[in-house]
Amino acid sequence: MDPVIHLQNLIRCNTTNPPGNEIVAARYLADVLSRAGYAPVVLESAPGRGNVVARYKGDGSKRPLLLYNHLDVVPAEAEHWSHDPFAGVIDRGMVWGRGALDMKSIVVQQLMVMLRLARERPALRRDVIFAGCADEEVGGEMGLGFLVREHRALVDAEIGLSESGATPIYLNGHTLYAIQCGEKGSCRLVLRATAAPGHGASPDYENYAIRYLAIALERLTRAYLPTHLTTTVRNLLAALAPLVDVPADRLLDETGFEKALEQVAVPTLRQSLLHITRNSAAPTLLRAGTKINVVPGTAEAELDGRILPGYDVHHLMSEVRAAIGDDLPVEVIHVPGRDAPGLEAPSAGPVWDTLVGQLQKHDPAAVVVPTLLAGGTDAQHLAPLGVKTFGFSPMRFPRDFNWHGLVHGHDERVPIDALAWGIDVLYDTVLELCR
Ligand SMILES: [Zn+2]
Repeated sequence: MDPVIHLQNLIRCNTTNPPGNEIVAARYLADVLSRAGYAPVVLESAPGRGNVVARYKGDGSKRPLLLYNHLDVVPAEAEHWSHDPFAGVIDRGMVWGRGALDMKSIVVQQLMVMLRLARERPALRRDVIFAGCADEEVGGEMGLGFLVREHRALVDAEIGLSESGATPIYLNGHTLYAIQCGEKGSCRLVLRATAAPGHGASPDYENYAIRYLAIALERLTRAYLPTHLTTTVRNLLAALAPLVDVPADRLLDETGFEKALEQVAVPTLRQSLLHITRNSAAPTLLRAGTKINVVPGTAEAELDGRILPGYDVHHLMSEVRAAIGDDLPVEVIHVPGRDAPGLEAPSAGPVWDTLVGQLQKHDPAAVVVPTLLAGGTDAQHLAPLGVKTFGFSPMRFPRDFNWHGLVHGHDERVPIDALAWGIDVLYDTVLELCR
């Protein structure tokens, strides 16, 4: 069947998370895969939280390739949309609806690859696994996290391909495709300032928790934490330098990096480069006091910690400590249990070369670069299995299509041509990775 029809049908499965109810999409996919000859399994992590896994068998001489995706979508405010977000309307060569980009179109690409494998029966050295997962938009514990915890053998693989990569960025006359080769980890820190409590009518500002916290936060947010260039980012900067007219040796020099960055003329690019070249600890929650006339003895700020691959929470804590200094009664505390690891897959070598080669085969103008995501994805759940994960969901969007603004936004839609192009790229890539 036509990929567009599958996409329309999947958009009509309302999998808004919360509550998710991904089971409707999981059953739909299981049905399509069964009819193609697969034996898919549908697994619920809780009632309605459906996941679906299917496998194309290779000869087992290499570890599997995992095509993983998420079936849930974020909520849509229908009153701001041109078409019903759950109707899957086709208009002006595009399919409209929540999930059209993030990521039911990619679910369909991966599905079409599985269907074509079943039709053409190529001899492969790896199994190809399709995993449609619940819950990514709320952290993935009920989806890929659940599969890894409780059905590990079903998703164990050497290489994983999923969303967030291989879509064109038109930059200074070049067509750039960034493949996500890693992402930052995350953790939760607390700054706790302590001083004497007292009466609000007679404050002692020399010994005042809220003031200490305010000073600490001012110091922490006055500048960004130090630059660290990971392997992925070094490869990215080396490829990017000639395209943005900044000498590579300047961009690749950690000490002068922030100065060199000012020469990059594209503000959005400057911003993303800033965040993937350092750890960060952004204050996002504040807590102090319970009553208007009582001076609190403690004041706290929670910090959203983001850590580059290759670094850990201790690095981040010492960088935060260095930023706020040692002269304040402020502790830096790690809140355990919320840590996600940073990930980095190789942006050189045979797998990388295949991804680049296939993009360039299908778009001869493609300049392909590796990149790192400042946020986190479902890939973090695969870290315990050692899967090398890449954001590789090829779609050749036209120049005037501002897809960034549509992901999680109103009128989310995908150009049908871009989707179809990507299915061919993905299929050829899967064959080359698995032969
Ligand atoms: Zn997504």
